[in-house]
Amino acid sequence: MSKVAIHWFRRDLRLEDNRALYKALSSDLPVVPVFIFDKHILNELPEDDARVTFIHREVKAIQKKLQENGKDLRVYYGTPEEVYGQISEDMNVGAVYFNRDYEPYATDRDRKITELLKEKGIEVHTFKDHVIFEKDEVLKSDGDPYVVFTPYKKTWLERLKDDKKALHHYESESKTDGLLDLSPSKIPSLKDMGFIPSGIEFPEREVKRSVIENYDKTRNIPSLEDGTSRLGIHFRFGTISIRDKARKAKDLNDTYLSELIWRDFYSQILAHFPRVVSESFRSKYDAIKWRNNEKEFALWCKGKTGFPLVDAGMRELNSTGYMHNRVRMLTASFLTKHLLIDWRWGEAYFAEKLLDYDLASNNGGWQWEAGSGTDAAPYFRIFNPSTQLEKFD
Ligand code: FAD
Repeated sequence: MSKVAIHWFRRDLRLEDNRALYKALSSDLPVVPVFIFDKHILNELPEDDARVTFIHREVKAIQKKLQENGKDLRVYYGTPEEVYGQISEDMNVGAVYFNRDYEPYATDRDRKITELLKEKGIEVHTFKDHVIFEKDEVLKSDGDPYVVFTPYKKTWLERLKDDKKALHHYESESKTDGLLDLSPSKIPSLKDMGFIPSGIEFPEREVKRSVIENYDKTRNIPSLEDGTSRLGIHFRFGTISIRDKARKAKDLNDTYLSELIWRDFYSQILAHFPRVVSESFRSKYDAIKWRNNEKEFALWCKGKTGFPLVDAGMRELNSTGYMHNRVRMLTASFLTKHLLIDWRWGEAYFAEKLLDYDLASNNGGWQWEAGSGTDAAPYFRIFNPSTQLEKFD
């Protein structure tokens, strides 16, 4: 059996401008692309989780594209430990390439898999692809992490000027000739994995140039369909390249670029302070005795609080998996500061429903609203649901 390299797709579901894929294809081994439907993750999700339908659709599309050219994407259903056990028996693997993921489950998984592969004499190569700058690339002059956005952004922008490769486009797609020729394989169906297909309509991967151009003027108006890019789900699963969008933002609209910097900001907060997953960033806020009324929480979840903009947001979330940023802020403020319910309850509800759910940004957004987070709105600043309605609806 001749040696191969594996490219392991995870939160980078695209063939174009994919850094680890590019690096694998630049090595001298033929490459076998792999995707794992991870039982550790899937077992925790409800059977109608729309994101699983989305991932399934995207994985299938990559596989189809590759099969049209005599290549293949090998798709497995199992735990990564089991799957790599099987792969290393079926193939002579010389190296595994993947893009880094910074969520606690992922870093733990990747550490375990890396150990397992190295024990078998398999090289592991990992790359930055999901963010523009990782946690240690934008630091204060004394080496500490930033916990306030504005100075973080300033240093981030300076770093961008100096780092000519930060927004590089990796020509991975044009190198896919370097994939091993394989006979077509099948992808497990959603049903095989215990899921039912979701009818939710997923946001487009393409966004009109005018949306980015006008972003600073339109981004605060929830009723506008094209006021924001709705690319969240694509950033989340890597179906678009963050470098590509940051390049466009740099040319077209500073405010849009700033939002992408918020994404890096919260990613580095999670990476430096993983305790935020369960604790308040500002520890004294964990002394708050929340009222936590379960009936009121259920009414909030259903969009039946009687406050029109709060309810509209929650109903939109429940039926589409999307909510506008301003309304996310309002519903989160309402839950924590009107109903006095622990931000963690709201965070968990958003995590279940948002198509673009991202641990770092969701936790950051919730803690900001609750007042417990980095650079947060103080506890006495409360969004007024009526004024927000008048101003922004
Ligand atoms: P656009 O306005 O078009 O922005 C473009 C992209 O920039 C977004 O897709 C996102 O990747 C990034 N971005 C924009 N604003 C922020 C921000 N404040 N923080 C971090 N990244 C940002 N964003 C998520 O991606 N996942 C979440 O789970 C999430 N949960 C949130 C929870 C709360 C309580 C709040 C207040 C905000 C949350 N956000 C989250 C941030 C923001 O609301 C969404 O990114 C945005 O509304 C997604 O819509 P869009 O794709 O049209 O974004």
